[in-house]
Parts: sequence; C-alpha cells; structure tokens
Amino acid sequence: MRVLFLDVDGVLNSEINFFIKPNHQDNFWVEDRVFSKSSLELMSKLIYLFDLTVILSSSWRHGWGYQEDAEQRILQKALASFNMEVYDVTPTLSWHNPRGEEIQAWLDENQDKKIEAIIIIDDETDMLHLKKYLIKTDPYVGFSLTDFENACSFLLKQLDN
Ligand SMILES: [Mg+2]
Repeated sequence: MRVLFLDVDGVLNSEINFFIKPNHQDNFWVEDRVFSKSSLELMSKLIYLFDLTVILSSSWRHGWGYQEDAEQRILQKALASFNMEVYDVTPTLSWHNPRGEEIQAWLDENQDKKIEAIIIIDDETDMLHLKKYLIKTDPYVGFSLTDFENACSFLLKQLDN
C-alpha cells in the first residue's frame, strides 16, 4: 500500500479561491464550499499515477462517519467528481495534537498493511519525525504543478529503494 496523508484546506483549496477571486474559473463549488479545480485535477493525477491510498489527515475528518456530517458529504462529492475517494482517516487524539503524531498513530494501528511508500501533502509543517515525507503546499495557491512534480520525484525515489 502506498499511502497519501491528505490535508484539504491550503491543499485542495487556497486563499485565491477563498478571497482573491471568488468567481474565478478555477473555483469548484460544492454547496457552499469552494475547492480549486486545478489542485483537485493534479491530486487525482498523482493518486492515479502512483496508485495511492488516501488517508484524510485534515480537520475535515472530524465528524467523519457520522451520517449528518456536512463536511464529509461535501468533501466526498468534490473528490468523487475527480475520481478520488477517502480510504480512511487519521485518529483524533485530542485537540491541538501535532499532525505528525496523528499520522504516526495511524501507521501504528495499521502495521499489518504492507506500506511501500508514504507521502504527506499539507500546508502545515507539524509533522515531527515524519517531516521527511512532507510535500508542503503554499496555502495561498494550494497544490500546484511544482508540488505535483516534487511529489512525483519523491515517490519515485521511495519506490526505487
Ligand atoms: Mg491545511
């Protein structure tokens, strides 16, 4: 299994979508939430190319699994529009835990899975010892072509070893 720990805000959407160009053609609306069409497309391509399994590490996962969770419905719709889906979410340890701790907790709980490669895509950097797996996006632009290219070479390097 090749796992992608995926953040949402600052990755699949950006400040450009939020504030700068509310009517921009890159905007992809699901109900009242806006995403970046180009970031969604690039992420979908990356997942397809490397056969990545998506583990949601974003705060969007809070409430995941509850039927009434609007964020889950909206995010699933956005992802599905670009042929993506969430396989699992990282555990919520408590509020304000470093994300690296939650990702490590998921890895600990899933030791039975054969993990071939790990990549974290996030606009935050609180990954602790897992920072070496991080492709950090700029929250102003979201997941960009440069990030996509960096992610490809990073994954190729890991899979080579
Ligand atoms: Mg974020």
